[in-house]
Amino acid sequence: MNRVTAILPAAGLGTRMGADTPKQFLSLDGVPVLLFTLRRLAACPAITDFVIATRADEVDSVAASIKSAKLGRPVKVVRGGDTRQDSVANALAEVPADADLILVHDAVRPLVTLNQIERVIAEAAACDAAILGIPAMDTVKEVKRASLPNDVALITATIPRERVVLAQTPQVFRASLLLEAFGRARQDGVTASDEAGLVERMGRDVHVVVGSERNLKITRPGDMELAEFYLPGAGGPMTRVGIGYDLHRLAEGRKLILGGIELPFPKGPVGHSDGDVLAHALCDALLGAAGMGDIGTHFPDTDPRWKDASSLRFLEHIRGLLAEHGFRIVHIDANVITEKPKLGPHFPAMREALAKSLGIAPSAINLKAKTNESVDAVGRGEAIAAQAIATLDR
Ligand code: MG
Repeated sequence: MNRVTAILPAAGLGTRMGADTPKQFLSLDGVPVLLFTLRRLAACPAITDFVIATRADEVDSVAASIKSAKLGRPVKVVRGGDTRQDSVANALAEVPADADLILVHDAVRPLVTLNQIERVIAEAAACDAAILGIPAMDTVKEVKRASLPNDVALITATIPRERVVLAQTPQVFRASLLLEAFGRARQDGVTASDEAGLVERMGRDVHVVVGSERNLKITRPGDMELAEFYLPGAGGPMTRVGIGYDLHRLAEGRKLILGGIELPFPKGPVGHSDGDVLAHALCDALLGAAGMGDIGTHFPDTDPRWKDASSLRFLEHIRGLLAEHGFRIVHIDANVITEKPKLGPHFPAMREALAKSLGIAPSAINLKAKTNESVDAVGRGEAIAAQAIATLDR
């Protein structure tokens, strides 16, 4: 997989918003816009680290608030410049040498979806440069200001609409290509309003992946209301709870995988995947809380992709779905029901593995061991079961 570093220019003053607070710090669904945007990007597993360029007097406070947000990826916060191009240039200096691709995304486009991010990355991986953009719906006119009043302009041409695309972000480039484009722009004293512009002027192809008008850039008064409107289930923070349950038969000679960890035991669960009852109960609890159905609809056992798959991959997939819909995992509680083996000593490793797959802290996961007092199939050691409850907020 390509290693992608994400750069977020966030040094704007938001003068067009008419608000005292820069737009990247306004609160969207209870979260600063910058953090909301970062969480959307963090849902993409290919993004290995972040570099944020912000105003010099905000570097410390931004770094502190991001640290407490626990994104599970390294984040560097650097001083931005007076222009977007200067800010991105400062951030480029901090990109790790082993980054394959660099993704630049407006800090104030919080509603970008995981699907959009992944499509642009895939396109750039194939052709070196790709951006998200939308077709123009209105007829596009070229104008000059002439000596007319401020709010009036003179039309000089009509540009055929099918030749026009409105550029959005993410914009993703082969790292070496973007660095070269910025180096040449500096040499030539050229400024562009987006990164693609600097790559285009080198005569290199840049592809456009079709985005959505919902991926709006919070720029003008009223855009925050529009963003809240576009948020699924907008209308303030919301807490939801989901329940999950799973049971697998145990058979000799199968590995016992539980909470993503292999335990030393002569028997293991029978199943299409690794039969990890704890991970499966967790999947159902998370999907249940999000109102997204159950594990069977997302990972059908007829799909060869999931044959003998580690159930941690299910959790990673669900993590992306949750982030895409703006959900955050608050807490997980689970019971594992089995007579043997003793689970307590393995719980720290299980919590670590589950937490890593879900991008949360191990402290947000509580595990409990139960027996069935030798009663019924679980009690006789013929099966293992788990129950889970997940709490999400949005
Ligand atoms: Mg199962």
